[in-house]
This record gives sequence, structure tokens and C-alpha cells, in this order.
Amino acid sequence: MRCYVPGRDVVTTSDLSLAVIPSLMSDSPTTATEVRDSDLVLLPSMPAVTSLGTDAKKAVLRAQTRLLGNPGEGLPGQRSILRIPPGMTAEDLAPLLRTAGDAGVRAAAVTLRGDFGPDDYQSLETRTLLPRHWFAIVLGRLEPAVIPLLYYLGFDAFDISCAGAAAAQNTRQWQMDSESLDKSSAGPRFCPCAACHERDLASLAGRDLASALQQHNELVYTTVLSEAIGARSSGKLRWLVESRTHHSPAAAAILRRIDRGMYPFLEEFTPTTGAGTMPLIGPESYGAPAVRRFREIVESRYIPSPNKKLILLLPCSAKKPYSESKSHHLFKDVTESALGAAQSLVDEAILTSPLGLVPRCLERVYPAAYYDIPVTGDWDAEETEIGSRALAAHLRKFSSDAVVIAHVTGGYAEIVRQTEEQSTQTIIYTPQGDSVTSRDSLDSLHETLVEMRDLLGLKPSRWNENEEAMRAVADFQFGTGAGSALIPAGSRLNGKIYRTITCRLGGEQLFAFMADSGSVSLTLHGGRLLWPLHRYFVRFDGKELTGGSLFAVGVHEADPAIRPGDEVVVVNVDDEVVAVGKSEMSGLEMCEAENGRAVSLRHKVG
Ligand SMILES: [Zn+2]
Repeated sequence: MRCYVPGRDVVTTSDLSLAVIPSLMSDSPTTATEVRDSDLVLLPSMPAVTSLGTDAKKAVLRAQTRLLGNPGEGLPGQRSILRIPPGMTAEDLAPLLRTAGDAGVRAAAVTLRGDFGPDDYQSLETRTLLPRHWFAIVLGRLEPAVIPLLYYLGFDAFDISCAGAAAAQNTRQWQMDSESLDKSSAGPRFCPCAACHERDLASLAGRDLASALQQHNELVYTTVLSEAIGARSSGKLRWLVESRTHHSPAAAAILRRIDRGMYPFLEEFTPTTGAGTMPLIGPESYGAPAVRRFREIVESRYIPSPNKKLILLLPCSAKKPYSESKSHHLFKDVTESALGAAQSLVDEAILTSPLGLVPRCLERVYPAAYYDIPVTGDWDAEETEIGSRALAAHLRKFSSDAVVIAHVTGGYAEIVRQTEEQSTQTIIYTPQGDSVTSRDSLDSLHETLVEMRDLLGLKPSRWNENEEAMRAVADFQFGTGAGSALIPAGSRLNGKIYRTITCRLGGEQLFAFMADSGSVSLTLHGGRLLWPLHRYFVRFDGKELTGGSLFAVGVHEADPAIRPGDEVVVVNVDDEVVAVGKSEMSGLEMCEAENGRAVSLRHKVG
């Protein structure tokens, strides 16, 4: 794409180009006629919008919409890009976006100063107020290092005029910083790109040098964007964004602010499944949407069986799932030998950062089985606070005569101590010394479990471990109550815990739990059992489905709780379950979008 200003700098390329109408002063039919038929048009705004009051901002947008739509003379809405001043509220913006949308507009642009100050935050936040299917452009002074963050926030196109501006000052941009060729005493850095490698930069000057540098700089933008796109498809975009924030304190600060202020927007587009390990390295990860969502879902959807009398708190392990680690094998041996079949009365929970608390039943779900943290045992104040909040919420789910056994030390024990005041249960700390796996500590755990067994009168009882885990996973995935619906009386669960488990009723399979993905895959029979809960459903306009996908254009209604990657039930206009599959968009997005795949179907009727 090229960019030009009508009447000043006409670009003669046949590429898709962008016409910029410089200011509202050029609000005239002449300007509109100078725009060629194939051009996208960036509608005029005020040069400095930051000092405008709300009324003036609205006036700026109204002036833009006045340029649209008059047959024969106005600009066509479909090719126009609305420019949105920072700091507008959803309320003020909504009617103006509607007017523009009615005129055919499907794109908007915001401007950044590049310093990540309050104005930049407000501009970024504007992305959350735009219709989900609009094309979003970000203009301004954008260094290469910020591109992954902007892409993560849902922007589709980026102003790289910085590349030319830097080149004009003999500056080479790099992914995380820049290099002034005038000031470098060490000589130019090595660069393998075509612009730098095929000629001797030191022998170039003036326009030749600027042109080589611009070519290099633009390649750097292409490289970072390409990396961001690749990271999204491999589920690592958030990690890339976090690692890129290390180029400046302002970038780190704005990510934290974004996590707090834009969580509902980011969470909606964060997939609920992933492949490979999710690295959670530092404090930037504490508020990552996938992490915060996990904490919230465990808190709201995990309901322990009412017969649990003992709550056993354990530390996390570097190996995931925890059950497969050496330390958790030791813990399991101790609980088995101390309690035998009375184990069914124990609720095990693992304390961990930054997920907070992982019930044993949910250790296979995403991202609990997939995250990787530097396990040092040192916890900062914020991690301890996160852990303590999660633990307090967990303990509220048990009666006050349940007993908590905290087999944890160091930072983990600190979390438990910080929660003591809010807890109504008795808490017993079992470790001896600093190690939870020392002989003394394991003996102490054994002894305490035996004591509690006798004191609380824990009797051996039938325990279907598979059933307990599958109910918890189904509740986690589809909301509380889904476990009961999907594992009805008379159904049978087969398979090994934490491997593949199938659930059958009569001759029909209802679902399969795949340990690799940590989630439940429904069959049509399972979908029919889930449908009465009216959750995770997508309704389409017709009666029958053709092909392997349901496209957004056909979606009539969808559960707003649906996230990309979720297992969903597809129903037709007659409320019949006709398919099950995996969502490719959020529920709200598939209702708004005019194109794109909404659901990949796995099973369908016929
Ligand atoms: Zn280069």
C-alpha cells in the first residue's frame, strides 16, 4: 500500500493506495473528486486532537461522516477510514460509529504519539470500542518494538512512516532499538539484509544512504510483524508481546495498564486451547488474559464434592502435569498408604504462580498443564497476593469443620499464612524443615493424615476418580452443571485418568476427554445433553448444514461466553442439535462478522 495527499504528492503506482485528506479545512467536493476510484481514503481530522473537549471530538467525527455518502459527490463509505480522536467514551462514540457504519464504513484509524502516555493509552483503548469486524489502523510514531503489542491489540495495519523519518537522519532501526550511523564510533553493526549487505554503507551518502536505510528499516518492520503473525498462529503472541516490553519501562507499564483496563476485550480474543508450552517468565504474565481467566474460572466453576473433609495443599512442580513429577509421586504414595480408600474424602489443590491454585482434577486443562515458570521458590508480594486470594476463594467452598493440611514451605507457606485470617478451617503445616520431599516431611504428612483419618472418622468409600475429574473438567469447560448433564446416571467412563477417557450411555458415546488438549470433545449425543443448559451454543439461520464449517455470515445467535478454541454445540432454527465442533471466533464476533469461519465442525447430522 502507498499513501498520498491529493494534489500534492500523487503516487502513480497501481498498488492499493491510501489518500490522506490533511485537515477538515479541505472539506470540499474538489478534494473528494481528486481521490481516485481505487483509493482508500483516510478521512480528515484535526492536526492536534489531544486538546479537544468531548463536544469538539464529536464534531470532528460528524464532519468526517458529512463527507460520506452523497450519491455522485460524496466519498464512498466502503473505502473510507474514520479517524477517531483519543479519549472518547463508548457512549459518545456509538451513535457516530453507527452513522458511519450505515454509510458503509468498515475501517477506523487512531493516532499514537509513541510515548505510551495517557493519550496513547486512550487511543489504544479506542480499539475496544470499534465494531469487532472493522479494519483498525494505527498511525503515528511507531517504533518496530511496539508492532507486536499493536498487533496483539487487534490492529490490522500500521503506520511505518518512522522508517523514512529515521533513515533521513541516518538512523538504522532494529527490532528493539536503533543505531545512528553518524554517531557510531564502533562502525555500523552487521546486518544480513539485502539493503545493507549488498553494498558498503560507509561509502554511501545523502539520498543513496537514506534510501538504503529506509529499505533496511522497512524490512525490520516486516520482520517483526511476520514474527508476530507466526507467534499468533503458534499460540505464543502474548509471550512475544511480554518479551518485547523489555525495550522500555513505558512499554512494560502500558502492558500492565492494558491488562487491567482492556481485560474483557483481550480475554474475548484469547484462545482457550493451545499447543506447546506457555512460558510465563515475569510479572508481565500475572495479568495475562489466559492466566487471569483460569483463576476466575476455577474460582467460579470448580465446585468440590460435598463429602471432602480434608483439604491437602501441595506445591507445584516444574514438570506438568504435576502428577507426573517426582515430588507428586512421593505425595501420592504417602496419601495412598495413609488413607487407602478414604482418599476419596481428600481434596487436593496445588499452589502455583501465577495461576494461583489448581485443583488436582483440573491439572490437565489449559493452561495448567502447559505453563512453564522459573521455579525458584521465591515469590514477590504480588504473586503471594494472587495465590492468597485464590486460596481464600477455594477454602470458602468447604465447610468450616474441614481441615486444611498445608504440605508447603517457603513462598507457598507464606501464601497459606496470609490466608489464615480469612479461613474458617483449621490449618496444619506438615513439613519439617525447608524440604517437602525429605523423609521427615513425608513422615510428618503421613502421620498427620492418619491422625486426621481417625479424628474425623474418615471411612473408606467408593471413589470414581475418573468421574470426579471429568465432572470438574466439564464444569470448567462449559460452566457449573455441565458435568452432571454430560455424565448422567447409567453412563460409563472408560479409560485411564489423565490419558483418554470416554463416556458412554447405552451404546452411544457422549464425549471423549483427550489428555493432549486437556479438554472434552463432544459427540452429537453429548451435544444434545448439553444443549438444555443453553451454553456454548451457536444457532444458524437454516435447517441443515453443508460442508465442514459454519461461516459467520450464517450465524444467527451465539453464547457470548464462547471463545476461540471452545467446544460448541450447533443448533438450527428448529432448536435441533445438528453439529458439534470447535469455535474459531468469540461468540459475539461470529454474530457481528460478515465473513470468516465461525465453527469447524467435527460431527454433524447426516
Ligand atoms: Zn539491513
